[in-house]
Amino acid sequence: MIVTVLGVDPRSRSKTKLQAPAPLPHVSRRALARVRDRIEPPKACHCCGGPVKLTNNSEIYNGHSFGDWPFVYRCTQCQAYVGLHPDTDLPLGIMADRATVAARKEAKADFQRLTAARFGYDRSAAYAWLAQALGIAKSICHFAMFAEAQARRAGEVCRLELGSRRV
Ligand SMILES: [Zn+2]
Repeated sequence: MIVTVLGVDPRSRSKTKLQAPAPLPHVSRRALARVRDRIEPPKACHCCGGPVKLTNNSEIYNGHSFGDWPFVYRCTQCQAYVGLHPDTDLPLGIMADRATVAARKEAKADFQRLTAARFGYDRSAAYAWLAQALGIAKSICHFAMFAEAQARRAGEVCRLELGSRRV
C-alpha cells in the first residue's frame, strides 16, 4: 500500500464555509492549515482494501467515545482504523489493524527509550535520526504512518542503537 504525503489542504484557503462529511460537526479551515504533511482520507482500507466508514470512535472503545474529536476512519472488513487531526476530516496516518497497533506500540516504547538515552528527550532530533536510519523522508517518519513491518523495523533500529541484543 503506497500512501502519498501531500502538502497543506487547498480547502484551507476556501472563501466559503466547508462541508463536513457526516458525522463530523464541522471542518475548520484553520485546522486544515495546521496539517503540513497531509494524506487523503482513505477510500479503501490501507490494510486489506475493504470498505471504510467515517464514524465515532465509540465503535472501537466499547460504546464510549474518546477525546475532543472522537472520530475515526474504520474498515468494516478488518476493523483497522485511524484517528483524525482535530477539527478536520484528515487522517492522522495510515489505518492500523490490531497487529499494526501492537507493533507500533512496542516500537514506540523502544523509540522513547532511545529519545531519552541518546537525544536528551529531543523528539525532533530523535525523529530526524530515525528517518535517516530507516532511509525514509522525515515527513513520513511518524509512528502513525508506519505499517506493521515498518514499525517492527523502527523498533529494531532503535534497539540496535541502544546496544540491546533483543532484536
Ligand atoms: Zn481492512
